[in-house]
Amino acid sequence: MTNQIPVKDVTPVKVHKPKRSNQNDSYTPRSRIYVRAVEGSLETFRRFFGLIFLGIFAIIPWISYNGSQAVLLDIAEQRFTLFSLTLWPQDLTLLAWLLIVAAYALFFVTTFAGRVWCGFMCPQTTWTFIYIWFEEQIEGSRNKRMKLDQRPMDFDKFWRKTLKHTAWILVALLTALTFVGYFTPIDALFLGFFTFDVSFWAGFSVIFFTVCTYGNAGWMREIMCTHICPYARFQSAMFDKDTFTVAYDPSRGEQRGPRPRKLPHDELADKGLGDCIDCNLCVQVCPTGIDIRNGLQYECINCGACVDACNGVMEKMNYPKGLISFTSEHELNGGKTHIIRPKLIGYFVVLMVMVGLLAYEMATRSSLEVDIIRDRNSLYRETNQGLIENVYTLKILNKSQDDRTFSITVKGLPDYEFYGDQTVFVRGGEVFSIPVSVATDAYNLEERVTDIFIHVQTQDKDGTLIEVNEPTRFLYR
Ligand code: SF4
Ligand code: SF4
Repeated sequence: MTNQIPVKDVTPVKVHKPKRSNQNDSYTPRSRIYVRAVEGSLETFRRFFGLIFLGIFAIIPWISYNGSQAVLLDIAEQRFTLFSLTLWPQDLTLLAWLLIVAAYALFFVTTFAGRVWCGFMCPQTTWTFIYIWFEEQIEGSRNKRMKLDQRPMDFDKFWRKTLKHTAWILVALLTALTFVGYFTPIDALFLGFFTFDVSFWAGFSVIFFTVCTYGNAGWMREIMCTHICPYARFQSAMFDKDTFTVAYDPSRGEQRGPRPRKLPHDELADKGLGDCIDCNLCVQVCPTGIDIRNGLQYECINCGACVDACNGVMEKMNYPKGLISFTSEHELNGGKTHIIRPKLIGYFVVLMVMVGLLAYEMATRSSLEVDIIRDRNSLYRETNQGLIENVYTLKILNKSQDDRTFSITVKGLPDYEFYGDQTVFVRGGEVFSIPVSVATDAYNLEERVTDIFIHVQTQDKDGTLIEVNEPTRFLYR
């Protein structure tokens, strides 16, 4: 019997390594990238999505609720107002849950569809495309912009450059004003900024974020994505062979090269040609300046611009679309993409658990918080009536947006005297601090330390009882 090793065809697909795009290197060591405008379904989708995202970002701080700004992260007052909800530093756990939910949502989406967050939703990408749009409108197409940059300064170049940078700065300023408007009342900020009547920090923040936006979207662009953003570095840990990413199909595209336009598609193989005509359009439209034909690269933000560009070329050539497409490694290798898979299910289950915990935290969150601080100067003292007295400072935090009256009692002592206000009025969203003291007969105290509770209660607008039993200690001897 002969044991034959099965024969396997391992003829390599010859991948042609193209020249890098003819990007001008006037900004060495980084070559300046002149992004070519592209049309297509993904571009339309990104614009639509970008406009919705921008609209939400711009409108939210102008929404008013109960006479005040509906969404306001007031750092000076240390409170975050979200319509009827007011969050305090004590509610930091909610923020932690929110960040965990956001992280798992990102893991889930990245495992499923790669870096679509980067390509379609990230502010860096959105603002970069806005800036590129202005560049295109003012300086012209990619070729015109390259020529413009190469020629010496003249009047035409001067006014175009001036107009472009003015537009960029205006967009940056509006962005910064809107962003800072999430942290300080926006109407006063807009008015105050242009009349030089804002606080130092508000003015400084607006200028700082204007410079950041102008620098990031105008000059840094892909450098942010490829060298600074940490997400680009660890995203590959979430990828698997079923993750949808933008990829070029070398088995269909190679050998690439020019050919007569009229050459029928079914005769390409006889000429030793694949579907790629080597037009370089996919490189010219890429905002990070890479050639997707070289395989998956960490610089790729999955924006799909090269997919649109190549589909346009395929359409003109009368070839099937999809030479570059959102596909999985399994599919590229002739297999099937497994959408439902353990890793994705795992992320989904954890995400749902986290969303449930966040919802539970929100639903069970009390609008009343009480804090008791014992007087550190004396453990106890004796009153003129011979009672044992302990002194405390009581802090009542009304976390609701309504003004409320709170009543205070003591639990844990059979008989006691209370010195201080037992009914206090606290405005919505305010902290009220009062000194109080509790006194009792020494016969009521069996131990040196007695655990007691300060009981604070109020009612909300619907008459629902809200109460807190805050533990503290009563000391004697
Ligand atoms: S390779 Fe394609 S999908 Fe990736 S960043 Fe460039 S244009 Fe966008
Ligand atoms: S756009 Fe398509 S045809 Fe043109 S070079 Fe890129 S992959 Fe080849």
